[in-house]
Amino acid sequence: MTWVRDAVGSPYGTHNLPYGVFRRDGGEPRIGVRIGELVLDLNAAEDAGLILAGGALRLPTLNGFLALGRPQWTAVRERIVELLTDERHRPAVQPLLTPLAEVELLLPIEVADYVDFYSSEQHAGNVGQIFRPGQPAILPNWRHLPIGYHGRSGTVVVSGTPVTRPAGQRRSADGPVFGPSTRLDIEAEVGFVVGVPSAPGRPVPVADFAAHVFGVVLVNDWSARDIQAWEYQPLGPFLGKSFATSMSAWVVPLEALADAWVPAPEQDPSVLDYLRDVPHLGLDLRLAVDWNGDRVSEPPFAGMYWTPAQQLAHLTVNGAALRTGDLYASGTVSGPSRDQVGSFLELTWGGAEPVTLSDGTRRTFLADGDTVTITASAPGPDGTTVALGEVTGRILPAPAGQDGAAT
Ligand code: CA
Repeated sequence: MTWVRDAVGSPYGTHNLPYGVFRRDGGEPRIGVRIGELVLDLNAAEDAGLILAGGALRLPTLNGFLALGRPQWTAVRERIVELLTDERHRPAVQPLLTPLAEVELLLPIEVADYVDFYSSEQHAGNVGQIFRPGQPAILPNWRHLPIGYHGRSGTVVVSGTPVTRPAGQRRSADGPVFGPSTRLDIEAEVGFVVGVPSAPGRPVPVADFAAHVFGVVLVNDWSARDIQAWEYQPLGPFLGKSFATSMSAWVVPLEALADAWVPAPEQDPSVLDYLRDVPHLGLDLRLAVDWNGDRVSEPPFAGMYWTPAQQLAHLTVNGAALRTGDLYASGTVSGPSRDQVGSFLELTWGGAEPVTLSDGTRRTFLADGDTVTITASAPGPDGTTVALGEVTGRILPAPAGQDGAAT
Protein backbone atom coordinates (compact mmCIF):
# COMPACT_ATOMS: atom_id res chain seq x y z
CA MET A 1 0.00 0.00 0.00
CA THR A 2 1.40 3.37 -0.96
CA TRP A 3 1.76 6.13 1.61
CA VAL A 4 0.53 8.57 -1.05
CA ARG A 5 -3.03 8.54 0.32
CA ASP A 6 -4.65 10.11 -2.77
CA ALA A 7 -3.28 7.33 -4.96
CA VAL A 8 -4.90 4.48 -3.03
CA GLY A 9 -7.54 2.96 -5.31
CA SER A 10 -6.49 5.20 -8.19
CA PRO A 11 -5.97 3.73 -11.68
CA TYR A 12 -2.62 5.53 -11.39
CA GLY A 13 -1.55 3.61 -8.27
CA THR A 14 1.79 1.85 -7.80
CA HIS A 15 0.58 -0.87 -10.21
CA ASN A 16 0.68 1.65 -13.08
CA LEU A 17 3.46 4.26 -12.71
CA PRO A 18 3.57 5.72 -16.23
CA TYR A 19 6.58 7.86 -17.22
CA GLY A 20 6.44 11.34 -18.66
CA VAL A 21 8.30 14.63 -18.99
CA PHE A 22 7.07 17.77 -17.28
CA ARG A 23 8.11 21.27 -16.33
CA ARG A 24 7.08 23.80 -13.74
CA ASP A 25 6.76 27.52 -14.44
CA GLY A 26 8.38 27.24 -17.85
CA GLY A 27 11.50 25.65 -16.36
CA GLU A 28 13.67 22.85 -17.68
CA PRO A 29 12.03 19.56 -18.78
CA ARG A 30 12.25 16.87 -16.12
CA ILE A 31 11.45 13.16 -16.18
CA GLY A 32 8.70 12.13 -13.80
CA VAL A 33 6.43 9.25 -12.94
CA ARG A 34 2.74 9.67 -12.23
CA ILE A 35 1.29 8.51 -8.91
CA GLY A 36 -2.38 9.38 -8.48
CA GLU A 37 -2.81 13.06 -9.32
CA LEU A 38 0.83 13.81 -8.50
CA VAL A 39 4.09 13.57 -10.38
CA LEU A 40 7.24 12.26 -8.73
CA ASP A 41 10.29 14.17 -9.95
CA LEU A 42 12.67 11.37 -10.98
CA ASN A 43 15.35 13.84 -11.97
CA ALA A 44 15.44 15.09 -8.39
CA ALA A 45 15.20 11.53 -7.06
CA GLU A 46 18.29 10.54 -9.02
CA ASP A 47 20.06 13.75 -7.97
CA ALA A 48 19.38 12.84 -4.36
CA GLY A 49 20.73 9.31 -4.82
CA LEU A 50 17.33 7.76 -4.15
CA ILE A 51 17.38 6.02 -7.56
CA LEU A 52 20.42 4.88 -9.52
CA ALA A 53 20.03 5.04 -13.29
CA GLY A 54 23.43 6.27 -14.47
CA GLY A 55 22.08 9.77 -15.10
CA ALA A 56 19.38 8.53 -17.49
CA LEU A 57 16.65 10.16 -15.39
CA ARG A 58 18.36 13.56 -15.48
CA LEU A 59 17.75 14.12 -19.20
CA PRO A 60 15.07 16.22 -20.96
CA THR A 61 13.42 13.17 -22.63
CA LEU A 62 12.93 9.50 -21.77
CA ASN A 63 15.21 8.31 -24.58
CA GLY A 64 18.32 7.76 -22.43
CA PHE A 65 16.32 5.70 -19.98
CA LEU A 66 14.58 3.80 -22.78
CA ALA A 67 17.97 2.76 -24.18
CA LEU A 68 18.96 1.03 -20.92
CA GLY A 69 16.85 -2.08 -21.54
CA ARG A 70 14.51 -4.29 -19.60
CA PRO A 71 16.68 -5.30 -16.61
CA GLN A 72 17.25 -1.60 -15.79
CA TRP A 73 13.62 -0.67 -16.52
CA THR A 74 12.49 -3.32 -14.07
CA ALA A 75 15.04 -2.37 -11.42
CA VAL A 76 14.06 1.31 -11.55
CA ARG A 77 10.36 0.44 -11.41
CA GLU A 78 10.88 -1.78 -8.37
CA ARG A 79 12.84 0.98 -6.68
CA ILE A 80 10.09 3.55 -7.37
CA VAL A 81 7.50 1.19 -5.87
CA GLU A 82 9.74 0.81 -2.81
CA LEU A 83 10.12 4.58 -2.45
CA LEU A 84 6.35 5.10 -2.66
CA THR A 85 5.32 2.27 -0.35
CA ASP A 86 7.94 2.14 2.41
CA GLU A 87 7.15 4.77 5.06
CA ARG A 88 10.86 5.13 5.82
CA HIS A 89 11.37 6.83 2.45
CA ARG A 90 8.48 9.24 2.91
CA PRO A 91 10.44 12.18 4.40
CA ALA A 92 12.89 12.18 1.47
CA VAL A 93 10.36 11.47 -1.29
CA GLN A 94 7.33 13.53 -0.33
CA PRO A 95 9.03 16.87 -1.18
CA LEU A 96 9.63 15.52 -4.71
CA LEU A 97 5.89 15.18 -5.42
CA THR A 98 4.06 17.94 -7.31
CA PRO A 99 0.34 18.16 -8.14
CA LEU A 100 -0.30 17.50 -11.83
CA ALA A 101 -2.34 20.69 -11.94
CA GLU A 102 0.87 22.66 -11.36
CA VAL A 103 2.92 21.18 -14.19
CA GLU A 104 3.00 21.28 -17.97
CA LEU A 105 3.34 17.91 -19.68
CA LEU A 106 5.75 17.75 -22.62
CA LEU A 107 6.40 15.26 -25.42
CA PRO A 108 7.95 12.42 -23.36
CA ILE A 109 10.20 10.98 -26.05
CA GLU A 110 12.25 12.30 -28.91
CA VAL A 111 10.42 10.36 -31.60
CA ALA A 112 12.93 8.57 -33.85
CA ASP A 113 11.01 6.80 -36.62
CA TYR A 114 7.23 6.68 -36.73
CA VAL A 115 5.35 3.78 -38.32
CA ASP A 116 1.60 3.38 -38.53
CA PHE A 117 -0.07 0.02 -39.13
CA TYR A 118 -3.57 -0.88 -40.30
CA SER A 119 -4.33 -3.89 -38.12
CA SER A 120 -8.07 -3.79 -37.36
CA GLU A 121 -9.99 -6.05 -39.73
CA GLN A 122 -13.19 -4.09 -39.07
CA HIS A 123 -11.50 -0.76 -39.83
CA ALA A 124 -9.84 -2.06 -43.00
CA GLY A 125 -13.15 -3.53 -44.12
CA ASN A 126 -15.11 -0.35 -43.41
CA VAL A 127 -12.57 1.92 -45.15
CA GLY A 128 -12.42 -0.46 -48.10
CA GLN A 129 -16.21 -0.27 -48.51
CA ILE A 130 -16.27 3.53 -48.19
CA PHE A 131 -13.24 4.31 -50.39
CA ARG A 132 -13.65 1.53 -52.98
CA PRO A 133 -17.35 0.69 -53.18
CA GLY A 134 -18.18 -2.37 -55.26
CA GLN A 135 -14.70 -3.82 -54.86
CA PRO A 136 -13.43 -6.35 -52.29
CA ALA A 137 -13.09 -4.42 -49.01
CA ILE A 138 -10.11 -6.43 -47.73
CA LEU A 139 -7.25 -6.58 -50.21
CA PRO A 140 -5.53 -9.94 -50.93
CA ASN A 141 -2.35 -9.22 -48.93
CA TRP A 142 -4.10 -7.99 -45.75
CA ARG A 143 -4.33 -11.32 -43.88
CA HIS A 144 -0.74 -12.24 -44.81
CA LEU A 145 1.15 -9.25 -43.46
CA PRO A 146 0.55 -6.28 -41.14
CA ILE A 147 0.05 -3.41 -43.61
CA GLY A 148 1.75 -0.19 -42.57
CA TYR A 149 3.55 2.92 -43.73
CA HIS A 150 6.34 5.15 -42.46
CA GLY A 151 4.93 8.42 -41.14
CA ARG A 152 6.42 11.75 -40.17
CA SER A 153 8.06 11.62 -36.74
CA GLY A 154 8.73 15.37 -36.69
CA THR A 155 5.03 16.18 -36.49
CA VAL A 156 4.24 13.87 -33.57
CA VAL A 157 2.97 16.19 -30.84
CA VAL A 158 2.02 15.73 -27.21
CA SER A 159 -1.58 15.54 -26.07
CA GLY A 160 -3.13 18.99 -25.68
CA THR A 161 -1.29 20.53 -28.62
CA PRO A 162 -3.82 22.31 -30.91
CA VAL A 163 -4.09 20.91 -34.44
CA THR A 164 -4.34 23.33 -37.35
CA ARG A 165 -6.72 22.25 -40.09
CA PRO A 166 -4.57 21.23 -43.07
CA ALA A 167 -5.09 22.50 -46.58
CA GLY A 168 -4.41 20.50 -49.69
CA GLN A 169 -5.69 19.09 -52.94
CA ARG A 170 -8.97 17.28 -53.10
CA ARG A 171 -11.08 15.86 -55.87
CA SER A 172 -14.09 17.79 -57.21
CA ALA A 173 -16.47 17.30 -60.10
CA ASP A 174 -14.46 19.95 -61.99
CA GLY A 175 -11.05 18.44 -61.26
CA PRO A 176 -8.73 18.92 -58.29
CA VAL A 177 -9.16 22.01 -56.10
CA PHE A 178 -7.02 23.40 -53.28
CA GLY A 179 -8.25 24.51 -49.87
CA PRO A 180 -8.71 23.63 -46.21
CA SER A 181 -9.73 20.01 -45.68
CA THR A 182 -13.49 19.58 -45.42
CA ARG A 183 -13.25 16.01 -44.12
CA LEU A 184 -10.89 16.23 -41.17
CA ASP A 185 -11.02 13.08 -39.04
CA ILE A 186 -9.46 11.24 -36.13
CA GLU A 187 -7.97 7.78 -35.81
CA ALA A 188 -8.00 6.27 -32.31
CA GLU A 189 -4.91 4.10 -32.01
CA VAL A 190 -2.49 2.50 -29.57
CA GLY A 191 1.22 3.23 -29.94
CA PHE A 192 4.26 1.20 -28.88
CA VAL A 193 7.47 2.91 -27.79
CA VAL A 194 10.74 1.18 -28.67
CA GLY A 195 13.56 1.41 -26.16
CA VAL A 196 16.32 -0.98 -27.17
CA PRO A 197 17.64 -0.53 -30.73
CA SER A 198 18.46 -3.37 -33.12
CA ALA A 199 21.38 -3.81 -35.50
CA PRO A 200 20.95 -3.16 -39.23
CA GLY A 201 20.33 -6.39 -41.12
CA ARG A 202 19.14 -8.24 -38.01
CA PRO A 203 15.38 -8.84 -37.87
CA VAL A 204 13.74 -8.77 -34.43
CA PRO A 205 11.85 -12.03 -33.85
CA VAL A 206 8.32 -11.98 -32.38
CA ALA A 207 9.67 -13.51 -29.16
CA ASP A 208 11.91 -10.46 -28.56
CA PHE A 209 9.04 -7.96 -28.37
CA ALA A 210 9.38 -7.28 -24.64
CA ALA A 211 13.17 -6.92 -24.89
CA HIS A 212 12.79 -3.97 -27.25
CA VAL A 213 9.43 -2.36 -26.47
CA PHE A 214 9.27 -0.27 -23.31
CA GLY A 215 5.64 0.68 -23.15
CA VAL A 216 2.38 1.91 -24.56
CA VAL A 217 0.81 5.29 -25.42
CA LEU A 218 -2.46 6.44 -26.95
CA VAL A 219 -2.29 7.96 -30.41
CA ASN A 220 -4.63 10.09 -32.51
CA ASP A 221 -3.56 9.87 -36.14
CA TRP A 222 -5.43 12.94 -37.44
CA SER A 223 -6.46 12.31 -41.05
CA ALA A 224 -7.76 14.58 -43.82
CA ARG A 225 -9.98 12.15 -45.70
CA ASP A 226 -10.49 14.35 -48.76
CA ILE A 227 -6.73 14.86 -49.23
CA GLN A 228 -6.12 11.16 -48.49
CA ALA A 229 -8.73 9.87 -50.94
CA TRP A 230 -7.21 11.84 -53.84
CA GLU A 231 -3.54 11.09 -53.12
CA TYR A 232 -3.35 7.58 -51.60
CA GLN A 233 -3.16 5.46 -54.75
CA PRO A 234 -0.71 3.99 -55.59
CA LEU A 235 1.79 4.75 -52.79
CA GLY A 236 -0.38 5.18 -49.68
CA PRO A 237 -0.95 8.01 -47.19
CA PHE A 238 1.15 11.17 -47.55
CA LEU A 239 -0.06 14.73 -46.83
CA GLY A 240 -3.46 13.57 -45.62
CA LYS A 241 -1.84 12.34 -42.40
CA SER A 242 1.59 13.97 -42.02
CA PHE A 243 0.44 17.35 -40.64
CA ALA A 244 -0.01 16.13 -37.04
CA THR A 245 -0.11 12.96 -34.97
CA SER A 246 -0.90 13.32 -31.27
CA MET A 247 0.35 11.00 -28.52
CA SER A 248 -0.46 10.80 -24.83
CA ALA A 249 1.93 12.39 -22.36
CA TRP A 250 2.26 9.26 -20.21
CA VAL A 251 4.09 6.14 -21.40
CA VAL A 252 2.65 3.14 -19.57
CA PRO A 253 5.37 0.52 -19.07
CA LEU A 254 4.65 -3.02 -20.26
CA GLU A 255 4.99 -4.25 -16.66
CA ALA A 256 1.82 -2.34 -15.76
CA LEU A 257 -0.08 -4.24 -18.46
CA ALA A 258 1.03 -7.75 -17.42
CA ASP A 259 -2.58 -8.69 -16.55
CA ALA A 260 -4.05 -7.27 -19.76
CA TRP A 261 -2.77 -9.88 -22.26
CA VAL A 262 -5.55 -11.94 -23.84
CA PRO A 263 -5.70 -14.39 -26.77
CA ALA A 264 -5.74 -12.46 -30.05
CA PRO A 265 -8.22 -13.36 -32.81
CA GLU A 266 -7.40 -16.58 -34.62
CA GLN A 267 -5.60 -15.93 -37.92
CA ASP A 268 -6.85 -17.64 -41.07
CA PRO A 269 -4.99 -18.32 -43.31
CA SER A 270 -2.08 -19.20 -41.04
CA VAL A 271 0.80 -16.74 -41.16
CA LEU A 272 4.35 -17.25 -42.37
CA ASP A 273 6.83 -18.53 -39.79
CA TYR A 274 8.43 -15.18 -38.94
CA LEU A 275 5.00 -13.83 -37.94
CA ARG A 276 3.99 -16.82 -35.79
CA ASP A 277 3.78 -15.66 -32.18
CA VAL A 278 3.17 -18.35 -29.59
CA PRO A 279 1.23 -17.58 -27.51
CA HIS A 280 -0.69 -15.30 -29.88
CA LEU A 281 -1.68 -12.48 -27.53
CA GLY A 282 -3.18 -9.02 -27.77
CA LEU A 283 -3.86 -6.39 -25.12
CA ASP A 284 -7.28 -5.91 -23.56
CA LEU A 285 -7.26 -2.12 -23.75
CA ARG A 286 -10.68 -0.48 -23.77
CA LEU A 287 -10.59 2.82 -25.62
CA ALA A 288 -13.12 5.62 -25.44
CA VAL A 289 -13.59 8.55 -27.85
CA ASP A 290 -15.18 11.79 -26.61
CA TRP A 291 -16.22 14.44 -29.18
CA ASN A 292 -16.70 17.83 -27.51
CA GLY A 293 -17.30 15.89 -24.29
CA ASP A 294 -19.82 13.41 -25.73
CA ARG A 295 -18.84 9.74 -25.66
CA VAL A 296 -19.31 8.61 -29.26
CA SER A 297 -17.39 5.33 -29.37
CA GLU A 298 -15.65 2.66 -27.28
CA PRO A 299 -13.19 0.79 -29.52
CA PRO A 300 -11.91 -2.57 -28.17
CA PHE A 301 -8.17 -3.08 -28.77
CA ALA A 302 -8.33 -6.81 -27.87
CA GLY A 303 -9.93 -7.58 -31.25
CA MET A 304 -7.01 -6.35 -33.37
CA TYR A 305 -6.07 -8.93 -36.02
CA TRP A 306 -2.30 -8.33 -35.90
CA THR A 307 -0.53 -8.25 -32.53
CA PRO A 308 2.15 -5.74 -31.48
CA ALA A 309 4.78 -8.52 -31.51
CA GLN A 310 3.86 -9.42 -35.09
CA GLN A 311 3.97 -5.76 -36.10
CA LEU A 312 7.48 -5.38 -34.66
CA ALA A 313 8.70 -8.57 -36.35
CA HIS A 314 7.29 -7.43 -39.68
CA LEU A 315 8.67 -3.91 -39.33
CA THR A 316 12.20 -5.31 -39.01
CA VAL A 317 12.07 -8.48 -41.12
CA ASN A 318 13.81 -6.74 -44.04
CA GLY A 319 16.70 -5.79 -41.75
CA ALA A 320 15.53 -2.24 -41.01
CA ALA A 321 17.10 -1.28 -37.69
CA LEU A 322 15.14 -0.10 -34.67
CA ARG A 323 16.17 3.12 -32.97
CA THR A 324 15.55 4.21 -29.41
CA GLY A 325 12.44 6.37 -29.49
CA ASP A 326 10.79 4.63 -32.43
CA LEU A 327 7.03 4.79 -32.22
CA TYR A 328 4.79 2.37 -34.03
CA ALA A 329 1.04 2.68 -33.86
CA SER A 330 -1.55 -0.04 -34.29
CA GLY A 331 -3.77 1.54 -36.88
CA THR A 332 -7.30 2.68 -36.16
CA VAL A 333 -8.95 0.52 -33.53
CA SER A 334 -12.46 -0.44 -34.65
CA GLY A 335 -14.74 -3.14 -33.30
CA PRO A 336 -17.65 -4.79 -35.12
CA SER A 337 -20.42 -2.37 -34.11
CA ARG A 338 -20.93 1.30 -35.03
CA ASP A 339 -20.37 2.45 -31.42
CA GLN A 340 -16.95 0.74 -31.43
CA VAL A 341 -15.30 2.46 -34.39
CA GLY A 342 -12.15 4.54 -34.08
CA SER A 343 -12.75 7.09 -36.82
CA PHE A 344 -15.55 9.49 -37.76
CA LEU A 345 -15.27 8.25 -41.37
CA GLU A 346 -16.75 5.02 -40.07
CA LEU A 347 -19.00 6.57 -37.38
CA THR A 348 -20.81 8.67 -40.00
CA TRP A 349 -20.26 6.19 -42.87
CA GLY A 350 -18.25 8.48 -45.07
CA GLY A 351 -20.23 11.53 -43.92
CA ALA A 352 -23.57 10.10 -45.11
CA GLU A 353 -24.97 9.51 -41.61
CA PRO A 354 -24.28 12.52 -39.35
CA VAL A 355 -24.21 12.19 -35.56
CA THR A 356 -25.99 14.66 -33.28
CA LEU A 357 -23.98 15.86 -30.30
CA SER A 358 -25.59 16.74 -26.97
CA ASP A 359 -25.51 20.47 -27.81
CA GLY A 360 -27.85 19.70 -30.71
CA THR A 361 -25.27 20.27 -33.44
CA ARG A 362 -24.81 17.69 -36.19
CA ARG A 363 -21.41 16.46 -37.22
CA THR A 364 -19.91 14.39 -39.97
CA PHE A 365 -16.24 15.41 -39.79
CA LEU A 366 -14.44 17.82 -37.46
CA ALA A 367 -15.46 21.48 -37.24
CA ASP A 368 -13.04 24.24 -36.20
CA GLY A 369 -13.02 24.47 -32.41
CA ASP A 370 -13.94 20.81 -31.90
CA THR A 371 -12.06 18.85 -29.27
CA VAL A 372 -11.51 15.10 -29.37
CA THR A 373 -10.20 13.16 -26.38
CA ILE A 374 -9.22 9.50 -26.46
CA THR A 375 -8.78 7.62 -23.19
CA ALA A 376 -8.25 3.96 -22.36
CA SER A 377 -8.13 1.54 -19.47
CA ALA A 378 -6.96 -2.01 -18.97
CA PRO A 379 -7.33 -4.70 -16.32
CA GLY A 380 -4.59 -4.53 -13.71
CA PRO A 381 -3.48 -6.89 -10.94
CA ASP A 382 -5.94 -8.00 -8.24
CA GLY A 383 -9.01 -6.48 -9.85
CA THR A 384 -7.44 -3.03 -10.26
CA THR A 385 -7.69 -0.84 -13.35
CA VAL A 386 -4.76 0.64 -15.25
CA ALA A 387 -5.53 4.01 -16.89
CA LEU A 388 -3.55 4.98 -19.99
CA GLY A 389 -3.93 8.73 -19.69
CA GLU A 390 -5.44 10.61 -22.59
CA VAL A 391 -4.65 12.06 -25.96
CA THR A 392 -6.61 15.21 -26.66
CA GLY A 393 -6.53 17.96 -29.25
CA ARG A 394 -8.57 20.92 -30.45
CA ILE A 395 -8.96 21.93 -34.09
CA LEU A 396 -7.79 25.40 -35.12
CA PRO A 397 -8.92 26.95 -38.41
CA ALA A 398 -6.64 26.77 -41.44
CA PRO A 399 -4.49 29.90 -41.75
CA ALA A 400 -5.82 32.75 -43.88
CA GLY A 401 -4.74 32.58 -47.49
CA GLN A 402 -5.16 28.80 -47.83
CA ASP A 403 -8.63 28.88 -49.35
CA GLY A 404 -7.29 28.42 -52.86
CA ALA A 405 -8.73 31.71 -54.09
CA ALA A 406 -6.54 33.89 -56.30
CA THR A 407 -5.39 37.02 -54.45
CA1 CA B 1 -3.65 5.55 -38.85
